[in-house]
Amino acid sequence: MEITMEKILVTRSSMPELDEYVDEIKDIFESHWLTNMGVKHNQLEEKLAEYLKVRNILLFSNGHMALELLIQAMGLTGEVITTPFTFASTTHAIVRNGLTPVFCDVNPEDYTIDVTKIEELITDRTSAILPVHVYGHLCDVEAIDSIAKKHNLKVIYDAAHTFGEEYKGRGVATFGNASIFSFHATKVFNTIEGGAVCFNSSENGLREKLYGIKNFGIWDEELIKDVGANAKMNEFQAAMGLCNLRHIDRELAKRKAVVARYNERLSGVDGIRISKEQKDVTSNYAYYPVIFEPEVFGRSRDDIYELLKVNEIYARKYFYPLTNTFDCYKGMFDMGNTPVALDLSKKVLTLPLYADLRLDQVDRICDIILGK
Ligand SMILES: *Cc1c(COP(=O)(O)O)cnc(C)c1O
Repeated sequence: MEITMEKILVTRSSMPELDEYVDEIKDIFESHWLTNMGVKHNQLEEKLAEYLKVRNILLFSNGHMALELLIQAMGLTGEVITTPFTFASTTHAIVRNGLTPVFCDVNPEDYTIDVTKIEELITDRTSAILPVHVYGHLCDVEAIDSIAKKHNLKVIYDAAHTFGEEYKGRGVATFGNASIFSFHATKVFNTIEGGAVCFNSSENGLREKLYGIKNFGIWDEELIKDVGANAKMNEFQAAMGLCNLRHIDRELAKRKAVVARYNERLSGVDGIRISKEQKDVTSNYAYYPVIFEPEVFGRSRDDIYELLKVNEIYARKYFYPLTNTFDCYKGMFDMGNTPVALDLSKKVLTLPLYADLRLDQVDRICDIILGK
């Protein structure tokens, strides 16, 4: 008899019931207004500003374009201090703006930028710091803020992983000069593809500039002020967002239960390191990264990855390889400058985590990891 195993992917997109989505897009079929800041787009902006507790929000076609065009709109120059332990998008957005990423190491506690190593990387060409709230772990926003103030630098957060999180009761996107979110299908909240720039600060004209740049730099019919791109969120994306936002609290509660089960099974195991809850941060349970110390645990990250794979469980090596080792950047950066990130990238495995992952599936995954 052939035994068929249940396939488990690292994530599974949250979706509303089909009827709910069909209901939401009916207006679009009546109005024939498909994109270019339509009714759904504007409704979603309003609802997200409220949910994220942030004053300004602009929606984009995806998170990457939000970041790339934010860098352009802020007029950054020269060098930007960032981390290599992230998704390709963060580094590419800097380079595609003609700027030089300067890689700071991450700290071994929560894998965000090591704030004790930022200042030594600042030169007279540095214009900004671009840290990542990786896995939803909040950066040390207070230390970053004081370094930025002291050296007169801008701060942009890649907040792609921190949808809906709060720190001391404040929305995460209220820190720094601005933050970007991703609403990609695989993220905690999705609009199929999508993203946003958010900011609280009253940055001079930033809202108007971004609004133009995501639409070819067109300010009005006869005034084209910027060399813009096309990165608008369309009405079908926004409709998906309006539906998914109605269910976000339930989705987060389900994710929380999955994380609790993983923690129960994997905490206290020698050679396995799981993430700690951060003080004063309300988590969104976006990812479940596990660090495997091969000398202690007996098996390496790659061993576990393969072992899960033959059992039809597809964990991901987020974030391996480091962005400063990518082929497209060959010879440009020295990964030896970010030793903590390099070590993590060889030991980390992100386990399956999504709202509908059942607890018996979590148990099966943990049994395999623990050799039970
Ligand atoms: C997903 C992601 C992005 C890019 O978002 P897209 O919506 O996929 O373009 C940027 N940064 C990080 C850290 C991400 O995980």
